Amino acid sequence: MLSQKELIQYSRQIILPEIDVEGQEKIKSSHIAIIGMGGLGSSAAMYLAAAGVGNLTIIDHDVVERSNLQRQIIHQVSGIGRQKVESAKETLQGINPDINVNVINKKATQEQLSELTGEFSFDVILDCSDNFDTRFAINRASVIGQIPLVSATAVGFKGQLAIFNLSSKSACYHCLYSAMNLPEGNCEEQGILSPVVGTMGCLQATEALKIISGLTASKESFLLAYDSISTQFKSFNVPKDPSCVDCKTNTTSYA
Ligand SMILES: [Zn+2]
Repeated sequence: MLSQKELIQYSRQIILPEIDVEGQEKIKSSHIAIIGMGGLGSSAAMYLAAAGVGNLTIIDHDVVERSNLQRQIIHQVSGIGRQKVESAKETLQGINPDINVNVINKKATQEQLSELTGEFSFDVILDCSDNFDTRFAINRASVIGQIPLVSATAVGFKGQLAIFNLSSKSACYHCLYSAMNLPEGNCEEQGILSPVVGTMGCLQATEALKIISGLTASKESFLLAYDSISTQFKSFNVPKDPSCVDCKTNTTSYA
C-alpha cells in the first residue's frame, strides 16, 4: 500500500497508465542489486532511489578519489577518502529517506555474489562494474539465480547498454563476450566524457524499472550502442550461443 505522501511524491509516475498505483507498488516492493558505485552506478542508483525502488543493495570496495568526482555524481568533495558505498548511501537517503539502502563494502567476487543472491531475492541486477572478471562473475550469478541482468559500459565518447537473462531463452553476457573477443579500453587509459557515462546509467535505471513493471517489449537480449559524437543510437539483437558454458547448463528451470 502507498501512503498519502507516496501518492504525492510519485504522482508524475503514477499518472502514467502503464505504471499506475499498482506499478508503483511493485516498484516499492522491488529489490535491485547495483554492483559498482562509479559513474554508471551513480546515475542509475540516484534515479532508482528517486523513482521509489524500495530496496537497493549497493556493492563496491573502493574509496572516493578526487578524479572520480568528474562523473561519479553520487559522491561529493566532502566524500573524498570515504568508502564509496557509505558516501553513496548518504546521497541516496537524502534523495529518498523512505527506501532501504543495504551497503556491501566488498569486492563483487563469484563467492560474494552467490552469497548475496542466496540471501536476497533480487528482481534485477545492474552491472555497473569496470572490469571483465567482475562482469563474468555477475553474469554467472544472474544466470544461476535466474535474475535479469542490465549491463552497461562507457569509454571515451561512447557507451553500450545490454540486457541479458530475461528468460531461459535469452542470451547471457558470456554468449556475447568470451575471453577471446572482449571489447578494449577503459576510462583510466582512454578517458570518458562525463555525461556519457551518466546517460548509460540512466538507461540502466529505465530498463530496470521496465522489467519490474512488466513493460519490457521483448525477452530477447539486445545491445544498444550510443555514439555521442554522431549522436546516434544503434540496437542489435544478441542471439543465444548454443555452446555458451555459462547458460547452457542453466536453461531448464525457468521460462
Ligand atoms: Zn550464455
